[in-house]
Amino acid sequence: MRTPIIAGNWKMHKNVGESLETARQLEERVKDSSVEVVICAPFTSLAALSALGLSKVKLGAQNMYFQDQGAFTGEISAGMLLDVGCEYVVLGHSERRQIFQEDDELVNKKVVKALETGLKPILCVGETLEERRAGQTEDVVVSQTKRGLAGVAADQLANVVIAYEPVWAIGTGENCDAEDANQVIGRIRGTLAELYGSELAEQVRIQYGGSVKPGNIKEFMEQPEIDGALVGGASLDADSFTAIVQY
Ligand code: PEP
Repeated sequence: MRTPIIAGNWKMHKNVGESLETARQLEERVKDSSVEVVICAPFTSLAALSALGLSKVKLGAQNMYFQDQGAFTGEISAGMLLDVGCEYVVLGHSERRQIFQEDDELVNKKVVKALETGLKPILCVGETLEERRAGQTEDVVVSQTKRGLAGVAADQLANVVIAYEPVWAIGTGENCDAEDANQVIGRIRGTLAELYGSELAEQVRIQYGGSVKPGNIKEFMEQPEIDGALVGGASLDADSFTAIVQY
């Protein structure tokens, strides 16, 4: 049985005070949930969130660089994220791919470094609207999955979370049909089985992300291949994120 994982991606929202307030409310409300709950906060809030000593809500970052240290102005290493209490890091989010031109090769270097350092990557894959209309959805996610995981050893795979996030569904209010998402996620799991064998593939949590809200989370979580959600907008408010966690 895979433990569902629901992660909030706060993106470039919330100063330290706001982050602490939301995290405290969330911790109180979801403490009895059997779902794994993660907040991926801005870098500037992570140390303060860690100092709160949350026990139920885990911490994640939204990005990192693949080098350990050095002259990489503006970047953050995996070791620095571990140092401020992160367990997870979102990698290859479509906003990183599209706005900051991150390609599969760069994302892969980050995935490999995250695992080597002891962080669990949440590797995001997903097609654009153009690719979906051209019938390329499965080809795109299979390719991003294979390239993103190049060099990841079989004994590291259980620490990887994959988020299937159709780009056209992120922040648009237009979610993917749950059965469609289930099919694509099944294809991702099939790719993992080709690469690592079906026993290991069955252990990997694969989330859906893209306009998840309290009103639609249940549809996704009822699907057999979907093991949780990566939630952007609806994770900013403790009430709506709690309702998602308690689907
Ligand atoms: C995201 O940022 O990963 C995301 C899924 O955003 P939203 O839930 O707002 O669509």
